[in-house]
Amino acid sequence: MPLHNFNSGPSILPQEVLTQAAAAIHNFNNTGLSILEIGHRTTHFVEVVTEAQQIVKRLMGLDDAYEVLFLQGGATMQFMQVPMNLLDENGLAAICDNGVWGNKAVKEASLFGPVKVVSDTADKKHTYLNKQLTIPENATYLHITTNNTVEGTQWHQYPQTHALLIGDMSSDIFSRPTAFNQFDVIYAGAQKNMGAAGVTLVVIKKEILGKINRQIPAILNYQKHIEAGSLLNTPPVFSIYVSLLTLRWIEAQGGLAAMEKQNLAKSNLLYNTIDALPAFYCPIAKEDRSIMNAVFFLTDPTLEAPFLALCKSEGMIGVKGYRTVGGIRVSMYNAMPYSSVEAFCDLMKSFAEKN
Ligand SMILES: *Cc1c(COP(=O)(O)O)cnc(C)c1O
Repeated sequence: MPLHNFNSGPSILPQEVLTQAAAAIHNFNNTGLSILEIGHRTTHFVEVVTEAQQIVKRLMGLDDAYEVLFLQGGATMQFMQVPMNLLDENGLAAICDNGVWGNKAVKEASLFGPVKVVSDTADKKHTYLNKQLTIPENATYLHITTNNTVEGTQWHQYPQTHALLIGDMSSDIFSRPTAFNQFDVIYAGAQKNMGAAGVTLVVIKKEILGKINRQIPAILNYQKHIEAGSLLNTPPVFSIYVSLLTLRWIEAQGGLAAMEKQNLAKSNLLYNTIDALPAFYCPIAKEDRSIMNAVFFLTDPTLEAPFLALCKSEGMIGVKGYRTVGGIRVSMYNAMPYSSVEAFCDLMKSFAEKN
């Protein structure tokens, strides 16, 4: 039985990326050594980092005002590393709390300076985005989660602000052409749309650094990582290599415009199917629906368990909603083929007919 991998993260990767990564474990670039055995300061690996940085900038259309880093600690570490590097008692972090991840960004930032939650959508269980934000005059930065992985909302136009703009793009990075240059910091754990777990992409506009008075440990200091060319200490060599393979794959497919076309085709098919079947409903405001993670429910909650059991028996992996949200979550990252979403929609239709 073919499996359809709808996991929310770590998640599906392109088949050819897996094949190339597997080959490099045995013999990396004809060196006779495994990618797991080479030194991170060898020319071979420095070329991997450099090419990955170049592709990131090309895909984002960013110039040399920005630096591309590959760090550890996950997107979760960025919840504290961003304020540690940018926020002090004289500043203010304005943060949108639109779900699980934005909420963590709030908690961590408050360890480093004043925080104002400028949008809290808990009143409607985060099923919409509040786009009318009032950003305080003295805000240092505005932090948004561009795609709320758990709740299924996505910013389709970013807020305008006089403050710096920080984006947690963990679950929609490289899913569409977007105004990357509106941001001063972009970060994303690799394991959803650009590779394997273990590395976090951080893109920073260099001029924003060095403005606060705080001693920052070197390993957490963006400036030190920039000066070291993302090789301050041993980086996650293999994870960075898998990211490079995925980035090459994105470019070979036609770049972000091609990704968006596919992602819209998949998400339109799924949302149209949900909206057409009375057995299912999606509570997310239509204009804010995510093209990456669709969150929806069975109209009759007693049918949720049988539907999930059917999914399991039909090889549909990872479609159970997040533990605090419940329902169904279907993640449709870049590497997910249209045919998998089609198979899932067919299953929904036949379930709806029989129940
Ligand atoms: C998955 C996710 C995170 C957490 O990423 P880790 O790499 O596990 O720390 C943070 N933000 C968003 C939007 C996510 O989807």
